[in-house]
Amino acid sequence: MSAVQNKRIGAEAVAEKGWLRAHKWLILRRISQFSILVLFLAGPWFGQWIVKGNLAYSYTLGVLPLTDPYVALQSMVTGHLPETLGLVGMAIVLVFYLLVGGRVYCSWVCPVNIVTDAAGWLRNRLGIKGSSQLGRNTRYWILGMTFVGSALTGVVLWELINPVSMLHRGLIFGMGMAWTVVLVVFLFDLFVTSRGWCGRLCPVGAFYSLLGRWSPVRISAPARAACNDCMDCFEVCPEPQVIRPALKGEGKGVGPVILSPNCTNCGRCIDVCSKEVFTFGLRFNNPVSTAQPAVTQSEAR
Ligand code: SF4
Ligand code: SF4
Repeated sequence: MSAVQNKRIGAEAVAEKGWLRAHKWLILRRISQFSILVLFLAGPWFGQWIVKGNLAYSYTLGVLPLTDPYVALQSMVTGHLPETLGLVGMAIVLVFYLLVGGRVYCSWVCPVNIVTDAAGWLRNRLGIKGSSQLGRNTRYWILGMTFVGSALTGVVLWELINPVSMLHRGLIFGMGMAWTVVLVVFLFDLFVTSRGWCGRLCPVGAFYSLLGRWSPVRISAPARAACNDCMDCFEVCPEPQVIRPALKGEGKGVGPVILSPNCTNCGRCIDVCSKEVFTFGLRFNNPVSTAQPAVTQSEAR
């Protein structure tokens, strides 16, 4: 293995900031993901029905309905309109992710993220390189096909094979064959394509990225001048293509805010940066350099 392959992502950050600060957002995300799971499990496992349901539809403390808008929309194209409570739950979820960023669902809620993060970590530790040529737009094509397929068949097709729902339902009610689907996702990310499931295939992530397109809460790189090109942020990021415009766009008149809706607001780039380049911020606080005429973020890549 080469020296590059042996390099531990975030080692510099741990040395500079300490282990806790170099893992702060990762720890908070895991607390969020496991807390949500515990809330769902408390009913069927311990008889404490704080939350009833699953990630598709839930009812908390008898007052808060939450409906996954992607599942609800698939259901609608089959000709089934959700009940009033389902529509209210859908509106609440839509507004929440419109504000905080759609792919916050991926990094702070989705249980499959723990599986794909584990595959990404192991892939890096084993120094596995090379990826298939699957394009990042594949997930949007799959997203479109799930709606067309549901409309044509009258069945919410994706929910029959959705690893997110299968894993979540499996943890609550028993895994059955769901393990095989989760294992396939893990092995696909480990051996076939780096961050392949979430970054190239999952239509749930694609849906939430569209939902969060204009959300105000964004990651920003206000201290980008301090970047020492260690590349740790690119290595740890599940969507590394989103970083370059904000981090390297200063001379091209591109602001420091990461505007791509595929950023999951996971905060790992903040964690692993020893130079404290990144932070959470707002999309409006995006001062551009006047060194050269402004170009779009995609041109800056
Ligand atoms: S892309 Fe899909 S599987 Fe990955 S974290 Fe998002 S919803 Fe979960
Ligand atoms: S840019 Fe940062 S916050 Fe966004 S997905 Fe990458 S590591 Fe996570």
